Amino acid sequence: MSGTDTAGLCEAVTLLPPGLRSALLEAHPDVDRQRVADELVCALEAHPRGEHFAVLYDDFAAPALGALWTRWAEGEPPATYWLRPDCTRSSPHREACGHFAAHTGLHTWEAATAPRRP
Ligand SMILES: [Zn+2]
Ligand SMILES: [Zn+2]
Repeated sequence: MSGTDTAGLCEAVTLLPPGLRSALLEAHPDVDRQRVADELVCALEAHPRGEHFAVLYDDFAAPALGALWTRWAEGEPPATYWLRPDCTRSSPHREACGHFAAHTGLHTWEAATAPRRP
């Protein structure tokens, strides 16, 4: 481990299991299967423990209900997904946050511009 701080995103990666993908397509026939993420990247601010969260699908037609998210523990495949409303906060520059409502950690636009802190 290096002594660098934890500013930035987690970016843990996993793959969408085929079984979960087909369950999703069955439950949401309106989903564009080309746009379902197969490579999942944790979208949260870097976190030393806890589950990872990634967007599976964020292309619902307006008015959007939110996005499909999944979560997984380190070393385990994602086993479930759920529809979460989008975080409604946006930056002073009107950049929308890319997380789900009531997420932990920084908003995406804060994480992208966060000053490094000890
Ligand atoms: Zn993570
Ligand atoms: Zn947010």
